[in-house]
Formats: sequence, structure tokens, C-alpha cells
Amino acid sequence: MGRIVLENTTKSFGDVQVIPPLNLTIEDGEFAVFVGPSGCGKSTLLRMIAGLEDLTSGKIVIDDKDVTEVPPAQRGLAMVFQSYALYPHMTVRKNIGFPLRMEKMSQSEIDAKVDAAAKSLNLVDYLDRKPGQLSGGQRQRVAIGRAIVRDPSAFLFDEPLSNLDAALRVGMRLEISEMHQRMKTTMIYVTHDQVEAMTMADKIVVLQAGVIEQVGSPLDLYHKPRNIFVAGFIGSPK
Ligand code: ADP
Ligand code: MG
Repeated sequence: MGRIVLENTTKSFGDVQVIPPLNLTIEDGEFAVFVGPSGCGKSTLLRMIAGLEDLTSGKIVIDDKDVTEVPPAQRGLAMVFQSYALYPHMTVRKNIGFPLRMEKMSQSEIDAKVDAAAKSLNLVDYLDRKPGQLSGGQRQRVAIGRAIVRDPSAFLFDEPLSNLDAALRVGMRLEISEMHQRMKTTMIYVTHDQVEAMTMADKIVVLQAGVIEQVGSPLDLYHKPRNIFVAGFIGSPK
């Protein structure tokens, strides 16, 4: 399960409303991409869904449960950041298993889950290394592994590939798409990169200044952009 609904959610920082009332549904199993220029509110929205940022008003409902007041750890979501946020002194095995140790899971269960995640992410040979001994792509895989072991109902990615070079980005993009096809878990993926949005999304949410300009499939947006902003951003011919 992983149906996420935003109902009239708003966010202000001080007097500045960065998200006016916003309504959006992400269906269970969907790969949704939030795309828009820097500063349009993508990270803020994702952090609100994750529970890392309080709403100013409105609510967030996950699988028919109002989670607006539910702390992040109890929302069943896993967030993957662009700055991998790995623990430098811990091995890959320890980094991936970290959230499970927090949940007091038994060591044998933790090992089994870490081994399965490492296998699916091609990290089996790197489990004893520390993050400093890994490439950028491998570090990003470790961060994803740490999300996977929690069996989240949705993955939230905030520009996960923006620290990687162009060639690696293409490879990781494919890996994340494959991971979605395999797991069929809801994913919300934030990017300012139109190509990532067009190639990865089931549903693209185009944002400008905290407002949804259009929601649709990549083909919808390409063929029927609702306005010049969407057309320009998506690179469609209109
Ligand atoms: P994006 O991720 O699309 O680049 P953000 O969600 O980071 O955009 O930011 C949206 C707006 O909210 C920006 O104008 C940003 O300056 C502002 N903002 C974000 N976080 C804070 C904060 N903690 N305090 C004040 N303003 C913030
Ligand atoms: Mg951001």
C-alpha cells in the first residue's frame, strides 16, 4: 500500500507562503515526479509528506489514514537525499542495517535483509567498505539500500542523482526505474531535470512557485501542455 493524498496543504515560512493550498493524489504503486525550477517548493512538499516539515494548514493522508500529526518514523516512508547522509565511520553493511538496528530487529534478521538489499543493488562485494572507499554511484546505492530494508510503503527521492556525473546519472536513473518495476512500490521523485521526469514518471507534477501547473503522464504533458510554462519546461513543441 502507498496511496498518498495531499488535501489543501499549505506551507508558510514566516509571512511567506511558499505552498498555496495544494491538492494532489499519488496512487499506490505510481512513480510520480515533482519537477520545476529551483525554489518552486519541491523539497518542501516532499519534506511535508515525509513529516520532516510541519504543514501550515491542510492534511496529508496515507492509505486512508490522516498522518498530518504522525512523526516521520511512523509514516512507513523512506527518504533518499542527494547528499547521501551515510555514516562515514560505519561499513556499508552497518549503514544499510542502521534503521533496523534502531527498530531493535534481531541481528540475523538484519543480516538477511541487508544481504537481500545488497544483492539487488550490486553491493555484495562492498559490504565491508566504508563510504569513503566507494564511488558516488555506489554511495547512492547504499543510501537506497538503507531505504529498501525498511520495506517502506513509498520511497521519497529528493534529487538523488544531482551529485553524480552525467554518465552515472543515466545508469542510476535506469536502476531506479528497474527497482520500481520490480518492487511496484509508490515512488515520489523530485528533480529539476526534465529528462529524468520524462523518462521515469508515470505521472509528472509540474510546479511553479508552489502551484501545480499541470499533472499528467509524460505523453499528456508533451502533447497537451496546458500553458507556455509547462510547454517550455517539458520542451514540447507548443
Ligand atoms: P526546491 O526544492 O523546489 O528548489 P524548496 O522547497 O527548497 O524548493 O524551497 C521553496 C521555497 O521555500 C524557496 O523560496 C525557499 O527559499 C523557501 N524555503 C525553504 N525552506 C525554508 C526554510 N527553512 N525557511 C525559510 N524559507 C525556506
Ligand atoms: Mg530542493
